[in-house]
Amino acid sequence: LEQTLILIKPDAVQRRLAGTLLSRFENKGLKIVGLKMLQVTKELAAEHYAEHVEKPFYPLLEEFITAGPVVALVAEGPEAISVVRSMMGSTNGRESAPGTIRGDYGVSRQMNLVHGSDGPEAAAREIPIYFKPEELV
Ligand code: ATP
Ligand code: MG
Repeated sequence: LEQTLILIKPDAVQRRLAGTLLSRFENKGLKIVGLKMLQVTKELAAEHYAEHVEKPFYPLLEEFITAGPVVALVAEGPEAISVVRSMMGSTNGRESAPGTIRGDYGVSRQMNLVHGSDGPEAAAREIPIYFKPEELV
């Protein structure tokens, strides 16, 4: 079984989609083994998006991800990392296939509703940013 880090981003929380998106992951058969709501600080944003900090779009990404609370969860299941990535759709909602989360709920590249770890190394790095071992059940 794999574990992956999911964020329900500020746009989705503000749009009251947190429950809907949690349901999609549960309905798929993933097991939620950690769950919390938190405000992402600038420091946390830089740790989470370390690979993007030097990119020209980072100031806007930082502004977006710190604009309001997020729901962070760890989902577990067989090939959970790639299962969640395929459920999310591609980065830009305009290009995401209908049936994916981004394809069904968004038309933005920035306000794209969810984050999911993009591979096993990312999941191993990201989960401890948000959860202590004893917070995972
Ligand atoms: P996330 O990491 O948020 O789950 P992702 O893996 O689909 O999304 P990444 O390439 O990791 O996409 O980019 C992280 C975030 O940075 C994206 O969600 C998007 O909002 C923003 N982003 C990525 N590329 C660009 C770009 N060229 N211009 C503006 N914003 C971008
Ligand atoms: Mg990414």
